[in-house]
Amino acid sequence: MMMLDWTRRAACLDLDPELFFPISMEGPSQSQADRAKRVCARCPVREPCLAYALDTRQAYGVWGGTDPGQRRELSLAEPRENVPARPLRGGH
Ligand code: SF4
Repeated sequence: MMMLDWTRRAACLDLDPELFFPISMEGPSQSQADRAKRVCARCPVREPCLAYALDTRQAYGVWGGTDPGQRRELSLAEPRENVPARPLRGGH
């Protein structure tokens, strides 16, 4: 699998990937997700990680300090594609 450049500096590189993919975001899994988010909080590539997760619509897991619900909210607040370019000048 091709390794994205920023992943080489990921704080989670040597951690158990399962920490970042809790079975749910509620109950006992919530504390697992919180632990993963604390790792993300000190990660130097948090921004590209989150951008990648939003661009590729990652439906599971903690990416860039966010869980799937938070990413859905971000996507709704700021669509990253299919945004029509705004004309620089008014029409005729
Ligand atoms: S932001 Fe979190 S999930 Fe993304 S690379 Fe860093 S530690 Fe891993």
